[in-house]
Amino acid sequence: MTGNTFAGKSVLVTGAASGIGRAAALSFAAQGARVAVSDVDTTGGEQTVAMIAEAGGEAVFIQADVSQSAQVQALVEAVVARFGRLDCAFNNAGIEIEHKPLAESDEQTFDRIMNVNVKGVWLCMKHEIAQMLKQGGGTIVNTASVAGLVGAPTQPIYAGSKHAVVGMTKTAAAEYGRAGIRINAVCPGVIRTPMMDQAIQREPRRQKMIEKIHPIGRLGEAQEIANAALWLCSDSASFVTGHQLAVDGGLTAI
Ligand code: NAD
Repeated sequence: MTGNTFAGKSVLVTGAASGIGRAAALSFAAQGARVAVSDVDTTGGEQTVAMIAEAGGEAVFIQADVSQSAQVQALVEAVVARFGRLDCAFNNAGIEIEHKPLAESDEQTFDRIMNVNVKGVWLCMKHEIAQMLKQGGGTIVNTASVAGLVGAPTQPIYAGSKHAVVGMTKTAAAEYGRAGIRINAVCPGVIRTPMMDQAIQREPRRQKMIEKIHPIGRLGEAQEIANAALWLCSDSASFVTGHQLAVDGGLTAI
């Protein structure tokens, strides 16, 4: 992708205070986009904005909890007030807080995961699509997971939430394709993030286990998911919609 793929475009990234969202926000800005960095985490979000500014890009932080309807509506309104429109949205905020088989999981964990991972993506798409219809088009990428394509032992609720993201992505793509809105999902394998680094430090044998399940022989990097999200948002993917792109080092190939 050339250096100016998103020149002048208005882009929203949720969950952009950390990990995959931060890598994507930095990449969109490096490709010329004006980026709305959103997250519940103000400190991390402001850091992402500072990193973009340091690199000569344009970004603003807008705090929002994606599971709260009024906050998501205000978020999309704030992006439009600031940048005039919303060309691309990367709905990436998500939580993974579950490490038990299904019969041992509890209702509170179910509600928390579903509220952020499913309701959050639904609310974001609902308000983003309304804006994109007004302006005549746009692109949306939702972060699902390999756990949205196959089962994930000890993460049954998370897997359910990510399958739901894939289902909403396909359906919305079918509903709004003729309106010029392309909607896709990216499905990461296991990605090196601060949280994953900590888990490996606590239990070093995890690293070997994770490497083993990826035919490519290693964990993925946040930048590798960001690259896929940017491609899906770009005109290079102009005939791609309703797709769930596994970026997983071959994990779901075997
Ligand atoms: P991360 O924890 O580094 O980043 C997630 C961000 O989302 C955080 O900044 C967090 O504050 C934010 N967030 C959490 N709840 C929120 C809410 N209610 N509203 C707004 N923001 C909220 O994790 P990451 O690995 O970068 O994860 C990003 C996405 O990728 C998630 O949807 C996750 O499920 C998905 N994913 C990650 C992996 C992996 O191995 N890291 C694999 C597959 C899918």
